[in-house]
Amino acid sequence: MTQETVQALSADLATLTPAMRQYRTAKEAHPDTLLFFRMGDFYELFFEDAVVAARELQLALTARDKAKSVPMCGVPYHAAEGYVQRLLRKGYRVAMCDQMEDPKQAKGVVKREVTRVLTPGTALDPSLGAEQSNYLASIAVTGLNASTVCGIALLDLSTGEFRATEFSGANAWLQASDELGRVKPVELLYGSGLFGGVNLAGEAVEESSGTLEAIRTKTPLEAWVFTSDHALPLLRNHFRVHSLDGLGLAGHEMAGIAAGALLHYMRATKQGGLEHVDGLRYYERSSCLELDAVSVRNLELVEPLFSGETQQTTLFYTLDACCTPMGKRLLRATLLRPSSDLTEIEARLEAVAEAVSDLRRREDVRQAMNGLLDLERLLGRIALDSAGPREVVSLGATLQCLPGLLTSVKQFKAPKWSALANGFDTLEDLHTLIAKTIADEPPVSLADGGVIRSGVNADLDELRELSRSGRQALAAIEERERQRTGISSLKVRFNNVFGYYIEVTKANAKAVPSDYERKQTLVNAERFTTPELKDYETKILTAQERSGEIERRLFNELRRQLLDAAPRMRETARRVAEIDLLTCFAHLASLRGWVRPAVETSGLLEFIGARHPVVEQRLEESGVGRFVPNSVHLDADAGPSVLLITGPNMGGKSTYLRQTALLVIMAQCGCFVPAEQMRLGLVDRIYTRIGASDNVARGRSTFMVEMTETAAILNSATNRSLVLLDEMGRGTATYDGLSLAWATVEHLHDRIGARTLFATHYHELTLLADKLERLKNLRVTVKETAGGIVFLHSVEAGPANKSYGIEVARLAGLPAAVISRAREVLKLHERAESQQVREAASDHSPALQMTMFTPLSQRIVDRIAEIAVDDLTPREALNLLAELQKELKG
Ligand code: ATP
Repeated sequence: MTQETVQALSADLATLTPAMRQYRTAKEAHPDTLLFFRMGDFYELFFEDAVVAARELQLALTARDKAKSVPMCGVPYHAAEGYVQRLLRKGYRVAMCDQMEDPKQAKGVVKREVTRVLTPGTALDPSLGAEQSNYLASIAVTGLNASTVCGIALLDLSTGEFRATEFSGANAWLQASDELGRVKPVELLYGSGLFGGVNLAGEAVEESSGTLEAIRTKTPLEAWVFTSDHALPLLRNHFRVHSLDGLGLAGHEMAGIAAGALLHYMRATKQGGLEHVDGLRYYERSSCLELDAVSVRNLELVEPLFSGETQQTTLFYTLDACCTPMGKRLLRATLLRPSSDLTEIEARLEAVAEAVSDLRRREDVRQAMNGLLDLERLLGRIALDSAGPREVVSLGATLQCLPGLLTSVKQFKAPKWSALANGFDTLEDLHTLIAKTIADEPPVSLADGGVIRSGVNADLDELRELSRSGRQALAAIEERERQRTGISSLKVRFNNVFGYYIEVTKANAKAVPSDYERKQTLVNAERFTTPELKDYETKILTAQERSGEIERRLFNELRRQLLDAAPRMRETARRVAEIDLLTCFAHLASLRGWVRPAVETSGLLEFIGARHPVVEQRLEESGVGRFVPNSVHLDADAGPSVLLITGPNMGGKSTYLRQTALLVIMAQCGCFVPAEQMRLGLVDRIYTRIGASDNVARGRSTFMVEMTETAAILNSATNRSLVLLDEMGRGTATYDGLSLAWATVEHLHDRIGARTLFATHYHELTLLADKLERLKNLRVTVKETAGGIVFLHSVEAGPANKSYGIEVARLAGLPAAVISRAREVLKLHERAESQQVREAASDHSPALQMTMFTPLSQRIVDRIAEIAVDDLTPREALNLLAELQKELKG
């Protein structure tokens, strides 16, 4: 609550109306929320809440008082959900202050209370995509520098998925913020003081705040919430366990604290129904192929690089042929955390292979999944009490498909398929329970009645019979009264205010008998009642009320029974997701002619005839061309470990780099790959430094971001990693950039030994091939024709011998005058550079050695001086040097 609101509310405490006093109390208890205050048929917002809501929701801003000092706006209560969702999506928190008693029966002012606080991480958003998750995250931190420990907990309330992890050591904070950057929670809980750098070295917080900035809602909780004395017992109580070891939290106290603090928040915001949150999974990033937030973004795994672009550029979009929402979510999660466990990958590939080879059985399984709805989300809605009768019926329909699915899965023999089929719980008891309890086509709302099937409860059946016969009796009364009065248009009707009445048009009013009591006069009609009618009314309404009560009770009992079976349903949903994923992979492999990768523990990475899955798909769809397949051969143990790729802009260098990473990711997910052949020694981590990204807003230049990312790679890559560097060192002065790129390649080659692809426009770097035994030059090819250059997109051995920057600029439409002037300037530069080389060579100058970055022996320098280096371009001069060096080595 801002100072102004406090002043406005406390200044005239005495003069405040009772309702506004209630408002004040509610607002004081929830100062950081937009308070929706129920008044009659509206939720009203006051003071600056009203100003914010009017702006964000485009509502008319009015004033409550005559002096117009209290801004106000409101939304009809029945439409509130839509407005609240819009505010949540914008990152606001909302508190719902409801009327706690029937205004008609209230004595004095109606009692009001805040019944729920909705925040982006705790509210269900009906428009959430099936494949998306809505994570509420919590981070707990202790220690300084090398002894820092960060625990993270993540809860997706819509499915009940709850997991936690922990990082320790000097890099713990950076790793934790990277993990949050990858998961992208909608809301983050933290102990107040954390971001002030109280617990951590300020530098680490500063470095990672770019990742954290992307999280729109950050909610500080008081520091004591993140203590073991408070958080751990909460966690134990929720899961009803004595020790947290069973949840995999032994030795991971900070992960436990983060999870406990998250539960604290759920309670503090009055989120009931956490029954579906029935387990907590401890996970370690090291058990999977690690992808940092930068790589996930660069490789467009699940989201396009630039927001607003179409989803079609993502790997997720290209691979999503899943039949169920559970499968889609698993695909997304798997792409973000591919496996690094050979046994697990092999088991998946084996299962996919079997499904690839058997179209009929594969289609059987996929068909069987067709009617399956989102089991986890339905369960989530039931737990949160937001599921109506129709959703329960949908759950029943979904459960009904499970036995058929199991039968079709059992046709497969691979161990992974058997593991999925063995113990697959088809939940038939729950299906029967729902089918027996709920009517076939129930109304949307429980309050409408008729939800529970007849025959379930004898009392309910009797009451229904009573109200049915009552209604029949009313029809008989109508007929009898028409006869008695001679008014053929006489009607017996019902409304919520007057109950049952007899309606007679004004014209017939004279014929009304004396025993009718007048109830209401309308423009054209009069309404009456009789003692008999009143009697029936009481009978019918009481019967309806009582049957409503019974229906509610039975529905809640059913809900309880379903929730008791939540762990079983979640386990089945997990298996369905896995089955869906495997058949999706098999479907794609057979549709697009993908092959099974041979995965092993060596340092090899070899593709023959590989294609970029996303680019190939897009080219095919648009019909503009065909993807040109390429090969890769890298070996971290023996053979080339660094591939240096040169070639013109637009030649396909970046595509080649990304394709390599995507194929590794796909293979380690257990998916077949678009290649003729692939052999892969497991990769522990993929690092990418691709393209320019800057963070000017936070005072970081493009070059600074690039160097920070490169530093992270050089400090942590291993010889089992895959490193992709694209155009490194371009953001600074040419020779600085070149020197850095040069030294980086040497370091990767000599010290780290990671499989590396390095795309560059620095042709000078290609000389490294002579110096570094395990570095190989590759070039993307072009053809020069009379009409300009044609990109062939094929990658072949050897360095590029020419750059075509000006040609590409011409294709891009630069004015002809600029192009021709650029050609002139280039010539001048080339001439000057060759002159330099010549001079250097003839002077035996040490500057030559500097320019070449290669320590030349005196003998070579002497030889150069002997050669007539008259009209050489710099490239030719460099090539000459390289040849000489080789010759002299021999
Ligand atoms: P720059 O140096 O300017 O960054 P680049 O060499 O990295 O360019 P890419 O961005 O990889 O070039 O590719 C340029 C275009 O060529 C892309 O639009 C891509 O669709 C197409 N392309 C790349 N590789 C192939 C291929 N193997 N087959 C067909 N088209 C390709």
